[in-house]
Amino acid sequence: MSSHAAENASNEARDPAYFGYYAMLQHQQNMLQDTVRTSTYRSAILLNTECFEDKLVMDVGAGSGILSYFAVQAGAKKVYAVEASEMATKMKKLVQAASLPDGRAKNEFLKDKVEVIQSKIEDPSVKAPMVDTIISEPIGVLLVHERMIESFIYARDKFLKPGGHLFPNKGTMFLAPFTDALLFTETMGKARFWEQDSFHGVDLTPLYPDAKTEMFGMPVVGHFDPKSLLATPTADIDGYEMDFNTITMKALRDFVVPITWKAQYTGLMHGVAGWFDLTFSGNPESEASQPIEMSTGPSAEKTHWQQVRFLFREPLAVNAGQNIRGWMHCVVNDMRSYTVDIEVIVGNYGELSDPSEPFEPLLEKQASAQSTRRGDQDEETLEDEEDDLQFLRRRGRWELHEQSYNYSYTGTNDLLTKPEHLCMYEPENVDDAYGGIAYTN
Ligand code: SAH
Repeated sequence: MSSHAAENASNEARDPAYFGYYAMLQHQQNMLQDTVRTSTYRSAILLNTECFEDKLVMDVGAGSGILSYFAVQAGAKKVYAVEASEMATKMKKLVQAASLPDGRAKNEFLKDKVEVIQSKIEDPSVKAPMVDTIISEPIGVLLVHERMIESFIYARDKFLKPGGHLFPNKGTMFLAPFTDALLFTETMGKARFWEQDSFHGVDLTPLYPDAKTEMFGMPVVGHFDPKSLLATPTADIDGYEMDFNTITMKALRDFVVPITWKAQYTGLMHGVAGWFDLTFSGNPESEASQPIEMSTGPSAEKTHWQQVRFLFREPLAVNAGQNIRGWMHCVVNDMRSYTVDIEVIVGNYGELSDPSEPFEPLLEKQASAQSTRRGDQDEETLEDEEDDLQFLRRRGRWELHEQSYNYSYTGTNDLLTKPEHLCMYEPENVDDAYGGIAYTN
């Protein structure tokens, strides 16, 4: 088996659980009731009818079929609704009800318009023509969790006519440094359980390091206060774009998101927060097209995707105006998700390591590289500099599927929250924080 085939096979091992989940109406309902999500798709489709009117459309992972029905409302000639789970049977009930005789028909507008195909899109037996437009909602936590964008891209390569359109056509990932002392304390609290040396007479301490690795290795899913960000990303600077029209399977399975921030506050960075935007450009070549954007960021209206935070095992002190450099390296795993490595360095001194290098030998390697480079410096200075770098760098690994949840932020009653309530301190002269002499390092 080639490694490619092995990768697919291991992903497939998750299929029964994955499609079992989506076969349940309550889980489809959860997505349908995400009004931001569902109405964004509806607007994107109904405001760009030229991609649908009299067109052949495919809905990849149709679920309850909602996007297919929107496509019919937008004038589609025929929609091929491909759904692997048992939800396909339920979708058929809805679609077939359109053809009931004697005035009993429901949703007559769907009559003869939707063909339900119960299959994985990757199954070679899927029989559908080339289509003008593909619609899909293949999005998971942090855009890529669930690895369904791979199925979307597969459909693009196999079923989309040249010049056809994808809805959505772009996803943009955002990362930002955050502070959250309470979240850190709670997580440490869970790990510290294993610090007891006499739990019913048993010394648990040998497991403390493992407990810390496990608790901090779980991405925290939930909404948080946008004010807890130590730097705010902007689309131009920090957005990592995935163009669904052009992205390759390889680039989806292993990618590096560069990090360049300038701290706007002095405070403790407890980790890296992430979210995404979705873009529906319609037909960018047409004047009639109405691009639609949706953000899942902490300042936007809440969605069922929420946001995600990667908590460091040890906070990192940053000063307003300091640069924070780094990267996030995402590699697919066989849990329909990703292994996420993040490294950041605060300040301009010290080289970031190669994202593809294994972590453990890193510090030693770097130390020896540095001593070769700075051969003429005396040893004491060298050691000091290496120590400093160690204090200014954080690196960690998280499994995107091992999610824990934090719902402590309700978004209400926070209007009075000021940065100092979150132990974030504004520079006296805000302009200085953006490159003024007082804050450059
Ligand atoms: N389009 C629906 C459902 C989105 S959830 C909506 O917007 O509400 C994603 C759906 O895709 C799930 O129902 C899941 O079972 C289906 N799915 C995931 N991977 C698939 C694949 N490879 N082939 C076919 N269906 C898939």
